[in-house]
Amino acid sequence: MLANFPGYDRLKKVKQLSDDQWVCCCPAHDDSSPSFYIRRGRDRWLVHCHAGCSYEAICEALGIKTHEMFFNKSYNARSDFDLELERTIVFIHENSITKPSESDYERYVQAKLRVSRAGMDMPSSKSQKTLGLSKSSVSKNLD
Ligand SMILES: [Zn+2]
Repeated sequence: MLANFPGYDRLKKVKQLSDDQWVCCCPAHDDSSPSFYIRRGRDRWLVHCHAGCSYEAICEALGIKTHEMFFNKSYNARSDFDLELERTIVFIHENSITKPSESDYERYVQAKLRVSRAGMDMPSSKSQKTLGLSKSSVSKNLD
């Protein structure tokens, strides 16, 4: 039942494709022809926007938290796949030798916050040692 979908009342032009698949207008962008796909997975709702809206943007537009897509409400964030993504973002940012854009930096801060809230160990940054660069020498070179 799609009525159980979190944020169901925000979906427009919903059309059922099969027993467990639906298509509707994407809540996260101005969508006139339905390009937002919903599938009822084994343990969660799987969503995909053909225009490329991010999972975070979709959840935000639905007014829900990302973990609410999971059926099991006691779902443990420690084993969350999305947390792996957050850790990757933190890792990439902390090992990057180029200056991040403002939006990249905001994304990094958000990711770092999520990872620390989940109580996970931060990935170690080894590449700087490999490159023989310290953070200060990198920023001096860029300025
Ligand atoms: Zn979209």
